[in-house]
Amino acid sequence: MKVLLFGANGQVGKDCAQALVTAGYGLVSSSRADTDFSDSAAVFSKVIDEAPGLVINACAYTAVDKAEDEKALANKVNHLSPQALAQSCAELSIPLLQLSTDYVFDGQGDKPYKENAKVSPLGVYGSTKLAGEKSVQESLPEHIILRTSWVFGEQGNNFVKTMLRLAEGRDELNVVNDQFGRPTYVGTIVDVILFFVEQYTQNKTLPWGTYHCSNQGAVSWFEFAEAIFAQAKEQGVLDKAMVVNPIPSSEFPTPAPRPAYSVLDTHKLETLMKTPLPHWELGLTTFLHTIKQH
Ligand code: NDP
Repeated sequence: MKVLLFGANGQVGKDCAQALVTAGYGLVSSSRADTDFSDSAAVFSKVIDEAPGLVINACAYTAVDKAEDEKALANKVNHLSPQALAQSCAELSIPLLQLSTDYVFDGQGDKPYKENAKVSPLGVYGSTKLAGEKSVQESLPEHIILRTSWVFGEQGNNFVKTMLRLAEGRDELNVVNDQFGRPTYVGTIVDVILFFVEQYTQNKTLPWGTYHCSNQGAVSWFEFAEAIFAQAKEQGVLDKAMVVNPIPSSEFPTPAPRPAYSVLDTHKLETLMKTPLPHWELGLTTFLHTIKQH
């Protein structure tokens, strides 16, 4: 089956492209050089021209703070182009797998969010991603929306890489201790995407709808940072111990507010896959092992 992947140069997209090729799928990769994802007409035409059997959208405007100043652009990339994707997929009668985010929630809850929990994004990034979700739901019944959280992988930028980079210049860091979520290794997201693609290839249908996809283990950014430095030292990626101080978000103001508690409940996906999702510590071990090799 021919798969058309948007966002092929991103953190998730790059590894996803590699995994699809390894699994033997005919892959058409689309990145910025190929299609400007802020141009919904170009996105629509790309799908029609390629006539794939399935579309995966890993493309997004992900600069959470910058989005506050670039609302129109974020809306085009996160909302209008996913809408065009869904409309073009409907025209071809093919499914769309759309990635989304825990930031559709306001984080005021205190127990893990199920897929049907009330959405109420705090900033432009979350609002535009939510608008993208809604337009996909309205335009194309044959969709899978995969919400994930706190993504880290070998490609692109993420919190783990930022911590390791900051450790090069100092021995002590302040990290917020009042925002909780589930860190998620790209490898897990790619495995889940492959699961859906394989199921669709076999059965020509899927249990359509929204799924939460995060690694096991809810932590604060402070707790995650401590684990990163401990494992990095243990694995010889870092040659010193780091002191991490817990601080409240009020001491680290950002242009876009973050949800205080965006822990996703992943039971629906785990029931479907008949297996629990791995803990993020495993992903962190693989990540550190991989970057040590390079
Ligand atoms: P990245 O930012 O790493 O990748 C997004 C890709 O989209 C980039 O390759 C970027 O291109 C591309 N892109 C952005 N704007 C345009 C444009 N105008 N034209 C063409 N391409 C464009 O994101 P991730 O891989 O981390 O995210 C994948 C998905 O997961 C997204 O849906 C995101 O919302 C979601 N998600 C991510 C989280 C995270 O922590 N990162 C958390 C929760 C959900 P270029 O490389 O050229 O800039």
